[in-house]
Amino acid sequence: IPHGADDDSDIIIPDLPPLLRGHPDVHLRNGVIRSARLAAAGESDAESAYFVADLSQVYRQHDRWKRLLPEIEPFYAVKCNPDPYVLRLLAALGTGFDCASHGEISQVLRTDVCPDRIIFANPCKAVSFIKNAARSGVNVMTFDNADELYKVARANPSAQLVLRILTDDSKSLCRLGLKFGAPLVTVPGLLAKARELRLTVIGISFHVGSGCYDSSAFADAIGCARTAFDMGLAAGYEFTLLDVGGGFEDATFEETADVLRNAIDLHFPDRTRLRIIAEPGRFFVARAFTLATNIIARRARSDGATTEVQDEGDDQPSVMYYINEGVYGSFNCILFDHQEVHPYVLSMNGSFHLVGTEDLRTCSIWGPTCDSVDCVCPMTKLPAELRVGDWLVFNNMGAYTICAASQFNGFAVSPITYTTGDGLGSQETRRVLKSAVNAANA
Ligand code: PLP
Repeated sequence: IPHGADDDSDIIIPDLPPLLRGHPDVHLRNGVIRSARLAAAGESDAESAYFVADLSQVYRQHDRWKRLLPEIEPFYAVKCNPDPYVLRLLAALGTGFDCASHGEISQVLRTDVCPDRIIFANPCKAVSFIKNAARSGVNVMTFDNADELYKVARANPSAQLVLRILTDDSKSLCRLGLKFGAPLVTVPGLLAKARELRLTVIGISFHVGSGCYDSSAFADAIGCARTAFDMGLAAGYEFTLLDVGGGFEDATFEETADVLRNAIDLHFPDRTRLRIIAEPGRFFVARAFTLATNIIARRARSDGATTEVQDEGDDQPSVMYYINEGVYGSFNCILFDHQEVHPYVLSMNGSFHLVGTEDLRTCSIWGPTCDSVDCVCPMTKLPAELRVGDWLVFNNMGAYTICAASQFNGFAVSPITYTTGDGLGSQETRRVLKSAVNAANA
């Protein structure tokens, strides 16, 4: 991606045009993606919420990964955001894929990815899923309990098993250890059972928890993995795969990569027969997706009848804004992924909003359904002038959002407009958003 491109120039990403060929929201001109389709003026759904996906951001994250963790092959965690264009881009860039189910495996295989680039990284699988994976040629899979070994022995005895161990996830936003991971004390027994069942165990995996801001968790986990490798040797297995899982955060990636490289050097100094993979999800997509929402209703906290809003001080929201996305839709990340989201104003009174110099008022933001749990921001500050029809934007909406959005109360999942970005950040996203808003307001 050429860095420093100005607002109107095109970004050329090798391989991207063929990936996006045939998508109605993408315009190609001279083999270059010009811009995404803008919301057509006058359409009845011109006010509907929508995502802008900046695919160049995914590309940049991949680049960053390759620079900082060249020895670790990323297997993108599809569950995080199974967007078909994200998958196609990552497939073209050569990543592997971490799939949780038969559905995800099928989707990745339809993207023309070879089955040996897939790890079935769900330690507790239905027998039919193990059989289907085997039929599709997907043989590498995780386990963390003895019952899973019996199932695999019946459904796919030639599977290549990876033992997921329990590591400290106490510093992470989403603690996966509550549900998965074999404590180290159970590892010798599980490996003995695998031997007895004549199963092939090729390595160790762990997951420090999703949203891990404490890089030292990775160092501790690598130490545990070393112990598990040694237990493997004692049980007669020479492991060749180390899977360091997901949990990578954009903001702390440099530090995490540093910690991880050092821990690997310390505990696995001889890597001649060792393959190291990871299962990053949110790292690739969180920042790539921006969500634009329309204010569909507004009311004073204590007086539903008046349109005049009184300021009730800083500690109490004086006005409630209702937008057309909520926790039953893409903001499910607030409930399931423990996220806090922050809006900024995209347009007010039909004009694009650049810098806020106006009076701010304490307010709350609510989703569109009839449920009171549907609260997007219990307390924030927005310009006092904000009215019905204005637009609010939320950044970092690419991870664990669209994939778990429901249509509760009949609200559709928000559509996605794709852009190639500007190579620098969110300028192109803002340009697309601005044009869409202008068209919608026309
Ligand atoms: N691998 C497994 C097995 C997971 O369960 C998850 C997330 O739940 C991931 C990878 C991706 O984690 P993250 O998005 O935090 O990188």
